[in-house]
Amino acid sequence: MTEPRLITLATSDHGDVTLPCPAWCAGHTHHDPETLRVDLVHAGPAVDLVHLGTDLFSAEIVQSPYAEAVTPLLGGRTPGVSVHPLGKTLDPAQMYALAADLDRYADRLRRLADQLATVLDGAGQ
Ligand SMILES: [Zn+2]
Repeated sequence: MTEPRLITLATSDHGDVTLPCPAWCAGHTHHDPETLRVDLVHAGPAVDLVHLGTDLFSAEIVQSPYAEAVTPLLGGRTPGVSVHPLGKTLDPAQMYALAADLDRYADRLRRLADQLATVLDGAGQ
């Protein structure tokens, strides 16, 4: 078993805070020392959907180890997946439901492409 990876982060209310980083955490290179301890967050690598140069979707595992309030869909001490632009943090079942919705949406886009192709085929008649 490997030792937990420790990191020390400056906070505006508790000074330097040393805490273990989970294996999935991508690091804290963009840490702001004015962060409150309660707002410290571990974040994994982002899974992005970019199309034609536009960011459509981004998702990443997050955890706020010092979160105090537990607000459903807004993250906390339990890891979840933060989804943008949804602005919510989801559990595994909610992520599967999102993926299913995206599958259905992709099917609708394919039907729309088929419809457009048909429209364009008949455009000269
Ligand atoms: Zn971390």
